[in-house]
Amino acid sequence: MKHSLSPFILSLTVAFTGLFITGTTQAQNTIASDKFRQLSEVLPTPNTYRTASGAPGHEYWQQQVDYSIKIKLDDKKQHLTGNETLRYKNNSPDTLRYIWLQLDQNKHMSNSDYNVSRASSKLKKVTFNRVRGMVESQKFEGGYNITKVTANNGKKLHYVINGTMMRIDLPSPLKSGSDIKMHIEWNYQLHEQKVLGGRSGYEYFKEDDNYLYEVASWFPRAVAYYDVMGWQNKQFIGSGEFTLEFGDYDVKITVPADHIVAATGVLQNPKKVLTKTQRKRLDKAKKAKKPVIIVTAEEALENEKSRSTKTKTWHFKAKNVRDFAFASSRKFIWDAQGYQHNGTNTMAMSYYPNEGNPLWEQYSTEAIIHTMEQYSKFTFDYPYPVSISVNGPVGGMEYPMITFNGPRPTLDKKTGEKTYSRRTKYGLVGVIIHEVGHNYFPMIVNSDERQWTWMDEGLNTFLQFLAEQAWEDDYPSRRGDAANITSYMKSTNQVPIMTNSESILQFGNNAYGKPATALNILRETIMGRELFDFAFKEYAQRWKFKRPTPSDFFRTMEDASAVDLDWFFRGWFYTTDNVDIALGNIHLYTADSQNPDTEEAWERALDNEKPTFISKILNKGQWIRTHDKPELLDFYNEHDKFTATNAARNKYNKSNKKLEQWQKDLLLNQSNFYIIDFENKGGLVMPILLDITYADGSQEHVKIPAEIWRKNSKKVSKLLVRDKEITALAIDSKWETADVDVNNNYWPARPIKSRFDIYKFNKTKKDMMRDYNKELKSLDDEYSEDDEKEDDDS
Ligand SMILES: [Zn+2]
Repeated sequence: MKHSLSPFILSLTVAFTGLFITGTTQAQNTIASDKFRQLSEVLPTPNTYRTASGAPGHEYWQQQVDYSIKIKLDDKKQHLTGNETLRYKNNSPDTLRYIWLQLDQNKHMSNSDYNVSRASSKLKKVTFNRVRGMVESQKFEGGYNITKVTANNGKKLHYVINGTMMRIDLPSPLKSGSDIKMHIEWNYQLHEQKVLGGRSGYEYFKEDDNYLYEVASWFPRAVAYYDVMGWQNKQFIGSGEFTLEFGDYDVKITVPADHIVAATGVLQNPKKVLTKTQRKRLDKAKKAKKPVIIVTAEEALENEKSRSTKTKTWHFKAKNVRDFAFASSRKFIWDAQGYQHNGTNTMAMSYYPNEGNPLWEQYSTEAIIHTMEQYSKFTFDYPYPVSISVNGPVGGMEYPMITFNGPRPTLDKKTGEKTYSRRTKYGLVGVIIHEVGHNYFPMIVNSDERQWTWMDEGLNTFLQFLAEQAWEDDYPSRRGDAANITSYMKSTNQVPIMTNSESILQFGNNAYGKPATALNILRETIMGRELFDFAFKEYAQRWKFKRPTPSDFFRTMEDASAVDLDWFFRGWFYTTDNVDIALGNIHLYTADSQNPDTEEAWERALDNEKPTFISKILNKGQWIRTHDKPELLDFYNEHDKFTATNAARNKYNKSNKKLEQWQKDLLLNQSNFYIIDFENKGGLVMPILLDITYADGSQEHVKIPAEIWRKNSKKVSKLLVRDKEITALAIDSKWETADVDVNNNYWPARPIKSRFDIYKFNKTKKDMMRDYNKELKSLDDEYSEDDEKEDDDS
């Protein structure tokens, strides 16, 4: 899902139990402060299902659930009625006595955990939409009406509904390796997405009295059962998305005959639901070089006026998917373009109302193809036959093969002119890349979304950044650049990335921005592209069409690269520390040659460098006794205290004679021995990226691995032996590491640049007498902008 503020703002107070042992003994403190301690004692013990290398084990298993569903959309009442036959194949080694299903629509019941457990923030300035949501969520009669649950033989099955979960008790235990078929009938009221929010819903267009439906989480779906969690039947309370099993789908969708339907899977009956012209255009699109229009803007406008009383049933099949979603409307323009590359043979398709143009016809299908092309480089070939982007009320949400994306141009109601902001343009391209990208994570690399948001959002946002940067020069990506995450990293109301989806604070920064940035830093600064790309691809390949956990990711990244990254994952994923490495003192040493002539001269020079005491300066020109009586001067006035004696020279010559040549050479070495102190103020251990400038103007870059902090994570010093004199130092001058305070990164220090505003104090004074006597306008009068301004002031 694209992260944006929902109509409701979740305000959760979370007590985070730290990972690290906090104690008072010395030994415990050492454990807590050892940032290089291996993660193996925190990660689950490897077994035959999940190996210590991070790959699926030789006994890895997962369940398979196939669905055959019929659904009918009532466009007059915005109501859905359906029935499904679900085949549950138990591939686990366990015997199951019941099956859990997810009833996500029950989130919309007024007494749902989602509605009741929502903590409130104070109401002060609240948008119309938000207040409308607050009021409507109390009145809306949502949630499933389950009307029938039977076994394959027609016998009723006992079931219990607990919030968004339904337990169906099996007539006899389902043994390992066997399967069972069940039949369920249900109906529910769809909700207006703009009012109640969420990842699906309908949009109503007042001007032409039409509806656009984006339908998801619409059928009772099997809860995932797997080796780490058992049944993942944690209630759906809004943030933690859907943890699902792979299976094959056969879905028949009945809608008004003048609707166009977009769905997960391949259309099975084009002759029945499409016109001959549409089928011809689709055929042409397969090998087209640019999108081919299947339903034109003019045809869509015609359709908007139609009110068919007949229905059509669209039949789709999808293989090896973990979910199924669809969209339906008579407003859809539809374009398509085939994409073939390596193992991919896919029809990229976009569905959007006229309201979406001119943006959508220009960018949507192109962005779908761009995503498959770019993501495949880092993961695997896109395996599905279609990839769809639909414009509707949902801001951004992913389902297998189909995505819902929100941005649209702005219509000037007076002039009819359509324009779009920079933010809308890049928001649209970005959200399509993001949502189509979710096909890879978590639709195919099927992580447990209800538990870990970062496993799909973080990895996906990272690849989104790479794909955006390949779209156009200097694409303004919101997330991924190290410098963009520093203000979040400094903030106080944070929890670690390794926090359950429902308890995350600052959701977008925590689960999208921070992991995406962390992966960029791993790739560019710590591992290098060659090692990182191989390991990341290995993770994607190992876990495609399987269910990985965080440890499988952490372990694979090390297993495939021979880089110990435990310190990195520990710091970035298990703590809220930030990066702030500061330059401390710089010490300069040179070797003592032991030659009295050289050394005394060096001492004298050093002494001369010292400033003269103020009194001596002011005494200049005063009367001096020895000026008048030079006979008072003697040997010590002729030779200062830095004078070499013959005794010292004899001693030096004698001891020098005993030295071997290499030892003599070292004494003559004129190199500078610099010892530079570094302080870790932020807590995260990171490589030190040091830029050195020399007196002759030349520069050198030194990369000190993070391991320099392994014995003391707070203060370290580094020796640099250089012939040339160092005149300046800088840490992380390219802002690669998300260092939150770069002002302590320079020697010599630099001024901190910023601007302050000068403004004229100009507040309109309230004058009730003046305002009271103003002429009262009738409601028919046109209010000028000036009137509005005055209204704002009061
Ligand atoms: Zn997302």
